[in-house]
Amino acid sequence: MRILCVTVLVFICCNANGQNLKSGGKLDPDQANMDIRHYTVVLTVDPADQSIDGYTETDLVLEKPAERIVFDLTQVLQVKKIWVNSKEQQFEHRDHRIFISSAAPFKAGKQKVKIAYGGKPAIAERAPWISGFQWEKDSQGNPWISISCQGEGAKIYFPCKDHPSDEPNEGADMIITVPKGLTVAGPGLLKKVSDKKGWSTFHWKTNYTISNYCILFNVGKYSLVSRDYTTIDGNKVPMQFYVLEENKSKAAHHLDLLERSCRVLEKYFGEYPWAKEKIGIAETPHLGMEHQTMNAYGNKFKYVKLGGEDFDWLLHHEFGHEWWANKVTNRDWAHMWIQEGICTYGDALIVRDMEGEDAYVKRMQQTARNAQNKLPIVQGEEIDSDQTYHGDIYGKGAFFMHTLRYVMGDEKFFPTLKRLATDPQYTYHNTVVTKDVEKLFSEAYGKSLDPLFKLYLYTTNKLEISVRQTGEDKYLVRLLNLDMQIPLDITSDTGTQTITATSKGVTVTSKSMVIVDPKVFYLKKVTYE
Ligand SMILES: [Zn+2]
Repeated sequence: MRILCVTVLVFICCNANGQNLKSGGKLDPDQANMDIRHYTVVLTVDPADQSIDGYTETDLVLEKPAERIVFDLTQVLQVKKIWVNSKEQQFEHRDHRIFISSAAPFKAGKQKVKIAYGGKPAIAERAPWISGFQWEKDSQGNPWISISCQGEGAKIYFPCKDHPSDEPNEGADMIITVPKGLTVAGPGLLKKVSDKKGWSTFHWKTNYTISNYCILFNVGKYSLVSRDYTTIDGNKVPMQFYVLEENKSKAAHHLDLLERSCRVLEKYFGEYPWAKEKIGIAETPHLGMEHQTMNAYGNKFKYVKLGGEDFDWLLHHEFGHEWWANKVTNRDWAHMWIQEGICTYGDALIVRDMEGEDAYVKRMQQTARNAQNKLPIVQGEEIDSDQTYHGDIYGKGAFFMHTLRYVMGDEKFFPTLKRLATDPQYTYHNTVVTKDVEKLFSEAYGKSLDPLFKLYLYTTNKLEISVRQTGEDKYLVRLLNLDMQIPLDITSDTGTQTITATSKGVTVTSKSMVIVDPKVFYLKKVTYE
């Protein structure tokens, strides 16, 4: 998720409805033993009393025999009955967890867990940051229902294993019933719509792996505006916009912008990741979220100009998450910068494409000025979504990519970035952490980039550079806190040259005081001695 404006970052810790729900963190040992294969979520959604009712069926594999199976589900909802492989089981629902036990241990291998539940899900206080359900109405008075839960996890509305390390390998089915006349927009492909006594049931199905906070739906009096998109690899994909009827006339132009964003992102990051299903967006009452194949869009068609053309930052950013977050997923929220920082770098890359290299450099200079450096980007391991979330994972994370590009050079950097988004070992069910990214880039560079990764991502320190005048026209330029060689631009009285800076120092000749890194490729502190 993110959030608007080129320079202003808005971020708020996630704290749904006073429940203080967080996602991820230390994985429960009982859940570490469970590999989620597939979710089916079957719910009736009633706007009249703001309730949900139904069941979920989860296919999972237990690695070892287990005394219990543990799911996450908010206490706000009531669990009615639970069956494991069609046999009813005892359970306890406490601390937003469901503990399912059996007289004899559950055997290793496949299990099918059905949980019947319902109630009134928590209402979002400030979606998409403090999330939950939104029971809104469009300007015509029709129900307009939205869910968001990145910070809190899908446990706000269905029983799941709420940890980013485990996506359902075989995808998810959503069978959602709403009052007739409303439309459900969900992930994957719409398999079937059926009507019964004033209610309509929509069956959405994705066969792809999917993060649990993307397994959700929006409901509204939607019109469907669609076209075909041909990917960079030549595959035809439907591009669909579930737009409120009142905004239908704006949809075609909006899809033009989405198409352009897709072309630019495919150029840098490879083919659109969900080409067998769809490119989708749904209009939502909250600002936006990267819901896989059905991005939430709530920026109200507010465009700025980029390269003289209409541009929607929110639309572009959330769509970038189809690669960074949905396809390349952090295994632990501690490494969320991989999702947000690289996605935000994609926001700068479209500036490069539409306004040129200078405009891109300027944008990164602004990004550097906004870095807070109050908390490290990676604060440890097994960190939950709440603790990990702060502004620098966006801007400073993006700026780190800018620095890497300068250090490695375009011939190495861009193919490596694309490889991170396309190589099976980093994508879909193979989730990543910072070390994976570092190893990939170091390997491509031919030398270890680990010191740079450590400095930018694991500390709040800036690169410290000392400039000492050692003679009338001699300056010694030294790195003070980075133990590796890096390129560094130095402007002297005769122009700008790139030196290989080290901790030992390099002497530069100039009749005037030298300027270090004038274009700002580094977050740095320069000391003139
Ligand atoms: Zn984002």
